[in-house]
Amino acid sequence: MHLLEKFQLQRLRFIRTIWFGLLSLGIMAQNEINQAEKPNFIIIFADDLGYGDLGSYGHPTIHTPNLDRMAMEGQKWTNFYVGASVCTPSRAALLTGRLPVRSGMASNKSRVLFPNSANGLPHEEITLAEQLKTVGYSTACVGKWHLGHKEEYLPPNHGFDYYYGIPYSNDMDLTRKLEGPTGYWDLWTKEYANLEISDFNVPLIRNTTIIERPADQRTITKRYTDESIQWITENREKPFFLYLAYNLPHVPLFASEEFMGTSKRGLYGDVVEEIDHNVGRIMRLLKNEGLADNTIVVFTSDNGPWIKTEISGGSAGLLRDGKGTTWEGGMREPCIFWSPGKITPKVVMELGTTMDLFSTFSKQAGAPMPTDREMDGVDLAPVLFDNEESPRSAVYYYRGRDLYAVRVGPYKAHFITQEVYVPNPKRVEHNPPLLYNLDVDPSERFDLSDEFPEIIAAIQEVVRKHNSKMRKAPDLLALKEKKK
Ligand code: MG
Repeated sequence: MHLLEKFQLQRLRFIRTIWFGLLSLGIMAQNEINQAEKPNFIIIFADDLGYGDLGSYGHPTIHTPNLDRMAMEGQKWTNFYVGASVCTPSRAALLTGRLPVRSGMASNKSRVLFPNSANGLPHEEITLAEQLKTVGYSTACVGKWHLGHKEEYLPPNHGFDYYYGIPYSNDMDLTRKLEGPTGYWDLWTKEYANLEISDFNVPLIRNTTIIERPADQRTITKRYTDESIQWITENREKPFFLYLAYNLPHVPLFASEEFMGTSKRGLYGDVVEEIDHNVGRIMRLLKNEGLADNTIVVFTSDNGPWIKTEISGGSAGLLRDGKGTTWEGGMREPCIFWSPGKITPKVVMELGTTMDLFSTFSKQAGAPMPTDREMDGVDLAPVLFDNEESPRSAVYYYRGRDLYAVRVGPYKAHFITQEVYVPNPKRVEHNPPLLYNLDVDPSERFDLSDEFPEIIAAIQEVVRKHNSKMRKAPDLLALKEKKK
């Protein structure tokens, strides 16, 4: 090679190096800007809190000033739904953006996971934490998990960098036979005041290690919040996703000394007011640290009130029935979106579900949606940021593995109903289905099926389309571990 050619080649290489260097610097700078603009997400998920349990949703004697302020400064949704009316499938729906019957987290035999369950959320599922991690988010789960208590299924093995909480419901792992004069339910309706922390051998776990057993449930709401505050403070530089799932006001009810006996509503009110107080601590942190305008906070609950526990359970307000059913009280929840300066404050009567959070947050974070599976969410951005209509037009109410009811616009058709809170409850199939106009009749009292056969036909067409795309996974909840 001539000297001149060699020189030209070196020169070309040099220019190319400089050029690629500049280019990658540019890309990095652009990424950094995008990274800084990505909003943080906080989902606060209460357990068994009903539609009517907050002051801003009409409760006359539970005082919830922090959540009420959040509703005033943000969006208070009045037609927001969960993916199932009990814990495990509802949590699976929230975190995967899919109906739980698609992930195996729905069963007609075992409604939820128990301490002797063999399975958990399958690893083929993509959790919202895993999804957000692909675009650089820090992730934490604080509180109740209930998607598999074995190590392989705990939050650190489902996309969360950090976990602090209990692996299943706070009434599980009984240490003595707890039964009232007429059975298990007496315990909750009449004897709850006599329960001890040690009656429930529920473990408190940090990452995958048990650090306390039984978990002291009197201080657990405060400690979940302390952990959340510390984690936010430590992770504020990166975009973050915090899933804070308080395990109360699911029975048994426990409040700290500070809140015990302070609410007009009794112990249930004490517990809800303590949650409200702690949500207020998180809001103050976000405001004081300058994080509020770039953080989207959602507050909702996993399912409706556990009516069977009578005075220990919550209220669905004017909605019919509660937890475990596909009536409105089982699956419609209070839901508040809050992000000052970003989310348009208003009362939203549009349709939304917890499964929509996966789609909505993915879009905000710049994470492409999975294309290899059927997703059940929609992007709620038009409602949250642009004052437009919700892209969601239908809600599917599954109980276990079966579709019981479908809402299209204001109309809801019940094909099957299952009473829970009566002696000898029966599963009843309806043909024609029961039909209610939920805008006019939110309490589902006046059946319109005789008057509107054409609306029933239209809903049946929606069901036919839905069923044509439904691939149900095998039931993973029913399998229990063999006793050793
Ligand atoms: Mg629950």
